[in-house]
Amino acid sequence: MTRPLVAILSGAGISTDSGIPDYRGPNGLWRKDPEAEKLVTYEYYMGDPEIRRQSWQMRRKNRTLQAEPNAAHRAVVDLEKSGVPVRVITQNIDGLHQLAGLPARKVLELHGTAREFRCTKCHARGPMRDAIARVEAGEDDPACLECGGILKSATVFFGERLDPVVLGEAVAITKACQVFIAVGSSLQVQPAAGLAGVAADHGARLVIVNAEATPYDDRADEVVREPIGTALPRLLHELSG
Ligand SMILES: [Zn+2]
Repeated sequence: MTRPLVAILSGAGISTDSGIPDYRGPNGLWRKDPEAEKLVTYEYYMGDPEIRRQSWQMRRKNRTLQAEPNAAHRAVVDLEKSGVPVRVITQNIDGLHQLAGLPARKVLELHGTAREFRCTKCHARGPMRDAIARVEAGEDDPACLECGGILKSATVFFGERLDPVVLGEAVAITKACQVFIAVGSSLQVQPAAGLAGVAADHGARLVIVNAEATPYDDRADEVVREPIGTALPRLLHELSG
């Protein structure tokens, strides 16, 4: 018997046990603080060196790069190791699924990654810690060492498009899977939210694990409100059995 493909859509809630707050969600820190939101809005960032200076200081102080995976991230790795085909589609930029041991090719990062920088001109990339080291050494706004262009984090800023290749793969996985588990996502930010509907439309078993109600709860086969740190390991263990 072929084992069912399990797709896991993860949002901010899977990383709160790792000490990472929700930045981007409808109730996230950025939406509540318009000045902070400017630091991750493409138009402001590209147009204003002072915004870039503040943005680099924010990255320098951000604890995301020091965060460790938690029980929920590890449960996904255990499922993958059990031989069940699994793919993760994540709204998170913290890289914790991979840090927990999930092969990078099994993770689709809809909003990019905070662990790398990217040049806005030549698209060169590198480890974020290298750019942060230049800021620590006194550069306000480190320029691309290849072309002199403006560097930013390799995350999708407000005002930037999602990578169409990543998005296309996410849709394909969602259509192909037999089980779709949305975990720690309010399912209110597109396109991630719409994926839950696509999964249900294509006959996948839809499971939603989230502390709060979501717009897709009435379409779900199972809604779980218990804390993610215990709920996800239990759900995934059942699937691996
Ligand atoms: Zn460049």
